[in-house]
Amino acid sequence: MRIARISIDDEPRYAVAEPGDNPRRLMVIEGDPLFGKIQPTKTLVPIAEAQFLAPVIPRSKVVGVGRNYRDHAAELGNEVPSEPLLFLKPNTSVIGPEDPVVMPEFSEDVHYEGELAVVIRAMCKDVPEDRVPDVIAGYTCANDVTARDAQRSDDTFARAKGFDGSCPLGPFLVTDLDPSDVTLTTRVDGTVVQEASTQDMVFPIAKLVSYISSIFSLLPGDVILTGTPAGVGPVQPGQSVSVTIDGIGTLTNPFLRRGPVVPD
Ligand code: ZN
Repeated sequence: MRIARISIDDEPRYAVAEPGDNPRRLMVIEGDPLFGKIQPTKTLVPIAEAQFLAPVIPRSKVVGVGRNYRDHAAELGNEVPSEPLLFLKPNTSVIGPEDPVVMPEFSEDVHYEGELAVVIRAMCKDVPEDRVPDVIAGYTCANDVTARDAQRSDDTFARAKGFDGSCPLGPFLVTDLDPSDVTLTTRVDGTVVQEASTQDMVFPIAKLVSYISSIFSLLPGDVILTGTPAGVGPVQPGQSVSVTIDGIGTLTNPFLRRGPVVPD
C-alpha cells in the first residue's frame, strides 16, 4: 500500500493510492494510519493535482546513519565504520515534496544525499534483528541535505545536518516494499548523479534498526535514514534535486537562498 499525506483546504489528510503500478488517484482516509485502522472516505483526489506533504512528521527524531555505502565512505576519504555511525536530525528539519530547501547562510557547500528512509510503526526498544519487520511501517525517499563545509569544521553534525529543511521526505510511505535490493537514483536538474542498489549497504536495515533501538527507544513515526551511496555533490541555488526509489516514487525539491525574514 502507498500512503500519502496531502493538503486539502490547508488541512493535512492521509490518503492511499489506488492499487496497481501506475495509480492515478488517491483515496482520502480517516485519521492517521500509524495510529488506527485505515478507514476510507468517498473523497478521491487525482495524484496529478494532489499537494503532497511529508508522509510522516517524526514524533521524536530522525536518526541518520553515516558511511553506510563503501563507495561513499571512500569518496569522502573515510573508512567504513565497524558499528553504524549515528547522528540525529530534529523533526523541524523535515519538509515535503516540492517544498524549497532554503540553503543556510553559514554554508557555501550544501550537498544532496539521496537515501532510503525507514519509518517506524510501533514504540520499541532493543529489537532483535529477526523482529525488525514487526516495527517498520514502511519506506519513503529522503534527501539528507548536508552543509559539507560545516560537517568538516564542526565536531558534531548538529549544524551540518540539522538545519531547517535538511530532511525532505516523500512522496509516499510504502508499506509493502522489499527494500533489500531496490535502485536509488538522485538527479540534479534531471542529470543522474547517484545510482546504486540498497544491496550495497554496509549494514542492512535489520542490523541498523536493531542497533539503533539498542540506544534509543523508537516511537511511531520516527525515521531512520539508511545512508547515501557514492556521488554526493554540491547544489547551486535555483537547482532542483530529485531522489527516486523504485517502488516508492520521486521526491523533488528546489533549492534556493533567501534573505533575512524580518518585520518591515
Ligand atoms: Zn546521509
